Formats: sequence, C-alpha cells, structure tokens
Amino acid sequence: MSQGTLYIVSAPSGAGKTSLVRELIESLDGIQVSVSHTTRAKREGEVNGVNYHFTQIPEFEAMIARGDFFEYAKVFDNYYGTSRQAVQTLLDAGQDVILEIDWQGARQVREQMPAAVSIFILPPSRSELERRLSSRGTDEHAVIARRMRDAVSEMSHYDEYDYLVINDDFTTALQELQSLVISHRLTLATMQQRHAPLLSALLSQAPGVE
Ligand code: 5GP
Repeated sequence: MSQGTLYIVSAPSGAGKTSLVRELIESLDGIQVSVSHTTRAKREGEVNGVNYHFTQIPEFEAMIARGDFFEYAKVFDNYYGTSRQAVQTLLDAGQDVILEIDWQGARQVREQMPAAVSIFILPPSRSELERRLSSRGTDEHAVIARRMRDAVSEMSHYDEYDYLVINDDFTTALQELQSLVISHRLTLATMQQRHAPLLSALLSQAPGVE
C-alpha cells in the first residue's frame, strides 16, 4: 500500500478554514481530516470525537510525556495536539490526511516530515477579516481587538508555507484547494508510488505481458 500525503492547513480565525476543509474532504475521495485533541471547552454544536477529542489537562500532559503527539502547541491558552498514531495509521492505509493546525504545529510537522504539503489560507482584506471576527457573537471592542491581534500574529507566518489561498469567494477558494490536492496526486513521485505495477507492466518488453 502506498503512503498517503500529509497536508498542513493553517489560517487565522475568520479565514474560513474549517468550512473549506470540510467541503474539500466531502468533494474528494481518499482524503480525511485528522481530529485533534484539545483542552479547550467544547463550543455549542461541537461533538466530542468529531470536531475534537476534548481532553482534560492532566490527560493531555500525560500524552505529551508518553510522546503520543506528532505535534502539539499551546494556542490562546489551551493545548492542541495531533495524535501520532492516528495520523500514521491513515497515511499507512494510503489516505491523504489534513492537519488543521497553527503555525507552531506546522513547524514541528515540517521538521519530522519534510514531504508534508503546507497551505495557508488568508482572508481577502483586513476589513473583511474584522467583519468576520465581529460577527462571532460579541460586539465588545476589546474582544474583537484581541481576535484581530491573534489573527495578525498567526498571519505573520504565512511565508513559511508552500501554498497560499485567499478566501474571497468560497467556491473559488475551494476549487483552488481541490486543484492543489489533485495536482499533487499527479506528481511523478506520487504516481510512481501509487501506480508501480502499471508502470512496470507498461515498460516491460516481454511479449504478451500486461
Ligand atoms: P479553535 O479553538 O478555534 O478550534 O482553534 C484555535 C487554533 O488552534 C486554530 O488556529 C487551529 O488551527 C489550532 N489547532 C487546532 N487543532 C490543532 C492541533 O492539533 N495542533 C495545533 N498545533 N494547532 C491546532
């Protein structure tokens, strides 16, 4: 079985990353999103084991000590991490896997797996980002200002990524992500891995050998 490709997707809050990734995995076969562990409180509508594995701090710290995490980071005062075993199992089964993680986690993944493909999603403008961050339940100026500061801090790492997608029009951004995954599947290295029997049959000189 050939190995799947690992994708890292990062974005500031308000860029539309989660909706884009959800549509991406629904629209293509053979690609899944990894479910992270987090110590943050569950938000309304979130389901344990689907959006995140919601974990208590002592359990998360025990997982760190055991080396269970492929990468982990403290993001806005909460721990977030990717289980090493869950990701490896999917990749070994030939599935492409998306990690929706922040820039700190992206750095750790690149160090361990240089072949990972990293994508940063940007909002189309500062004012649109501010508008999207303001429409998240509170109009309190200090809260929005804090969200903007966090978003700018995440975006300052955009140039560590292989690809940039600007989410102005959702459908266009989705098509761009689909194109990235599809074209990566057609690279020489991936095709050689996934179609080794076909390539050797095509190149065989033996008569009648398929
Ligand atoms: P939220 O709490 O809004 O779901 O996510 C907050 C931030 O944590 C986002 O930037 C998201 O990409 C990041 N994040 C989510 N899961 C992980 C993870 O497993 N590892 C790391 N490093 N960051 C994560």
